[in-house]
Amino acid sequence: MEIFFSRNVALLPEIGPDKAQLLKEELGISTYEDLLKHYPFRYEDRTCISTISDLNTAGIDSPLVSSGLQLQGYIVNLRKIEKGKKRLVALFEDGTGQIELTWFQNFTWVIKNIKPNVLYNIWSKPSLSFNGQKQLVHPEIKIVVNNQQETFSYIPIYHSTEKLKRNRLDSRGIVSLQKKLLKQCNMIVHETLPYYLLTKYRLITLGEALKNIHFPANKGILRQAQRRLKFEELFYIQLKLLKLKQIRVEKQGGKLFRDLSLFNEFYNRHLPFTLTNAQKNVIKDIYRDFVSGKQMNRLLQGDVGSGKTIVAFLAMLVIIAENTQVAIMAPTEILAKQHFHRFYTFAELLQLNVALLTGSTKKKEKEHILYRLKTGILNIIIGTHALLSDGVSFKELGFFVIDEQHRFGVAQRAGLLNKNQIYAPHILIMTATPIPRTLAMTFYGDLDISTIGELPAGRKRIKTQHYYENFRLKVFQFLKEQLSLGRQVYVVYPLIEESAVLDYNNLMAGYESISRAFPGVPIGIVHGKMDTLSRDMEMRRFEKNETSILVATTVIEVGINVPNATVMVIESAERFGLSQLHQLRGRVGRGSEQSYCILMTDYKLNKIGKARIETMVKTDNGFEISELDLKLRGPGDLMGLQQSGVLNLKIANLSTDANILEAARESARKIIQEDPDFHHSDNLPIYREYTRLVSKAGGWSMIG
Ligand code: ADP
Ligand code: MG
Repeated sequence: MEIFFSRNVALLPEIGPDKAQLLKEELGISTYEDLLKHYPFRYEDRTCISTISDLNTAGIDSPLVSSGLQLQGYIVNLRKIEKGKKRLVALFEDGTGQIELTWFQNFTWVIKNIKPNVLYNIWSKPSLSFNGQKQLVHPEIKIVVNNQQETFSYIPIYHSTEKLKRNRLDSRGIVSLQKKLLKQCNMIVHETLPYYLLTKYRLITLGEALKNIHFPANKGILRQAQRRLKFEELFYIQLKLLKLKQIRVEKQGGKLFRDLSLFNEFYNRHLPFTLTNAQKNVIKDIYRDFVSGKQMNRLLQGDVGSGKTIVAFLAMLVIIAENTQVAIMAPTEILAKQHFHRFYTFAELLQLNVALLTGSTKKKEKEHILYRLKTGILNIIIGTHALLSDGVSFKELGFFVIDEQHRFGVAQRAGLLNKNQIYAPHILIMTATPIPRTLAMTFYGDLDISTIGELPAGRKRIKTQHYYENFRLKVFQFLKEQLSLGRQVYVVYPLIEESAVLDYNNLMAGYESISRAFPGVPIGIVHGKMDTLSRDMEMRRFEKNETSILVATTVIEVGINVPNATVMVIESAERFGLSQLHQLRGRVGRGSEQSYCILMTDYKLNKIGKARIETMVKTDNGFEISELDLKLRGPGDLMGLQQSGVLNLKIANLSTDANILEAARESARKIIQEDPDFHHSDNLPIYREYTRLVSKAGGWSMIG
């Protein structure tokens, strides 16, 4: 089958080199396998005949109307209409009612061929005429011969392009290619999944699945074909990720860290609050890794404010106790500084040495820091991406924490490993962007995942409300009340690259109108166009409560911690993504006072915008929100990774196929555990397919 699958489509009868080249350019199809895996994106259900009365009672977005339907009956009263747009109309009747047929082209053909008193089978997607009546435009028409029901099947519909269509490779053209190809491969398809998995999950064979994904005999077998192919797709991705992990663990090993003396000292004497159970569990996960002899690669997910920082700090103490260094990297200078200030207070209590290294650290100071890092005087280094540069080397780095960078992929992680020449440091990636489980399993399939699913006790739920522009005065009134209580306020404006100039003007106009509405109130502004220095200064002023209102773009999105800020106003909220809204909202609700999030929107909200706003008002659970975001936006968009091979799925859907993914992951996990090199005879299909996939990809290096 390896050979069959890799054959060039040019070898198919009737294609030839030109069309083959086009298929490659337009759809990336060059082999038999590519073509077979160019699955239909939908099917027209021609297995049953609907009636006009069904159609007339169906709503315009019922599946019957939106995906097309088949009718059987007679065509009467064909006539040409010259008034307005020239067209042919006729009535179609089937004994349950009548509906109008319309043609705007091919008049001669229609007039010549359409006959009264002939039973026709027609297929069409209803539309609304300008006067709001349902009509069928350019229906497909077939004469019913002796009641022979050859048309009763599912018709696959394939993606094609304008260029392909001009070369007879529209959906129908592809149908005919698939038919030819399937005829050939009938005999040759090797099963790619072991028999015991087929039985366990009641999956049909690959041969059956390929045949039925293109030409299903009925809905039931179509579902089975889809399930089988989805399982296979997800299974091999998981197998690949878990295999990677296994290779990494085997190759790298990890240093043991088990000294709890420093940890206990801090925990028993200095910890400013009681940890939540979720925090405790994560610390246990991490400690288990430290004493396992394997290198840790762990993702820590926890909603904004769930207390990830202290978890990281406590874990660091285990490493430091053995005279080994730790690093924590933040995405922005502001955040790095904030960590530095927090850690500094803690570290003093334990007499540890901490330093901050960012892009704007002065040369002299930097040299001093690098020296202390290299000689092992520094226990903790906190910084931005500057930490990754070549000049930064450690005496012995044991633990690298990466904060708020959930897109830190395999390749970037590999870079960290160079920071210790002797052994691979343990790695913890923290994120407040809750990633739906299915996505995490796929994108981070080679990581272990811990989750902090609860907030510290006593936090009040942030009250979220949605208002239109006409409510602005009342919103301002409310802000005044909060300000008079001594609280602080964020006002956030969108700044989208595509419309940066306009957005920037809006921000400035907003700043001015707020200045006018709140005379005498100190107001700050931060945006991406400011240099880091002035931006930092503004942030510090707000942190120190020298300004009461901070007007900003999304630069304040991550990490900022000002417990006295209790109101977040988000302007043009419909223009933000759901996860982003959630992140922004997380800037308030950090203290003990009741906090508020006010979403201001335009009157005109589209369906998605509306769904987002409603979700925000309804829930503050980050995971719930991310699940919905996945549905609204799709996985590639959600991760900002449309191009990523990992998420480029041909048939599975991470927002709807969670169950299949779980099963695939579990199967892959078991196999890697019990038969990591697929030598067992039962796993021969896996051995063959895995080897084929690896050689096709030129090794797995491209993932991540
Ligand atoms: P995030 O997970 O968003 O990074 P932080 O680590 O910044 O959250 O914690 C948010 C705030 O909650 C901080 O002020 C922190 O000191 C506090 N905090 C963390 N854990 C607890 C806890 N168990 N009880 C009370 N407050 C906590
Ligand atoms: Mg944080």
